[in-house]
Amino acid sequence: MRILLVEDEKLLAETVRRGLTNEGFIVEVVHDGVSGLWAATESPYDVILLDLMLPMKNGYDVLKELRARKIWTPVMMLTAKDGEYDQTDAFDLGADDYLTKPFSFLVLVARLRALIRRGAPERPVVMTLGSLRMDPMNRSVQRRGTAISLTAREYGLLQFLMRRHDQVVSKAEILDNVWDPAFEGGDNVVEVYIGYLRRKIDAPFDLATLSTVRGMGYLLTADRQPTA
Ligand code: CA
Repeated sequence: MRILLVEDEKLLAETVRRGLTNEGFIVEVVHDGVSGLWAATESPYDVILLDLMLPMKNGYDVLKELRARKIWTPVMMLTAKDGEYDQTDAFDLGADDYLTKPFSFLVLVARLRALIRRGAPERPVVMTLGSLRMDPMNRSVQRRGTAISLTAREYGLLQFLMRRHDQVVSKAEILDNVWDPAFEGGDNVVEVYIGYLRRKIDAPFDLATLSTVRGMGYLLTADRQPTA
C-alpha cells in the first residue's frame, strides 16, 4: 500500500512516516503543496494524506487541482482544530476523510485502512435542475451558460438544496448538513445565506426557484418566474 504524505511539519511527517512504515505501508513524504501535487500526479498512490495548511499551495487547492486532473486517489485531509476552515469545508471540497490534529496514530492507521478498503471515490456527476447546472468536479455553477461565482458555503448550501430539490427542507436540516456540527450561531445564518443564493442564482435571471415555505423551510425547484 503506497501512501503519499504531504506535511510541512517535518517532525510530525517523520514520526508518521516511521510509524506507517512499521505497519507495512510504503510512504513517500513531501513538504509543500506544489511537490504534493506533482508527486500525486506522477505516481499512483492508494491514499494521499494531505495537510491543509501547506507552503506554496494549500491542501484545498492541491485537492481541487487533483480532481480537476481526474486523479481520484482517496484523500485524507489533516486539519488543525483552530484552522481557518472546518470539517464541513473539507468534505465540501471532496476530501474522502479528514483527521483533526493532534491525532492518535492508531486512529490514523484504522482510518487509512478503511479508506483503502473503500477504494477510489465515486466520480462526481454534473447535477442539473432546470437551467441550473452544477459541476462538482471543478465546483462550477452555471445558469443559462452564465457562470455564477459562489463562496464555499454558498456552494455547499446549493449542493444540498439541489440534492433535495422539490422537497421542503427545514432550517435545522440545512444547518445539520451544511454547517459544522460545532457551529453555535443561530439558524438565522441559513436565512442570510438563502438570501445570498437568491441574489446569485435567481435575481439576475428574473427567476424565483428558491422559495420560502412559511414556518417549514425552503424549496428549490426548476425554473419558474416570480409570481408578483
Ligand atoms: Ca501545515
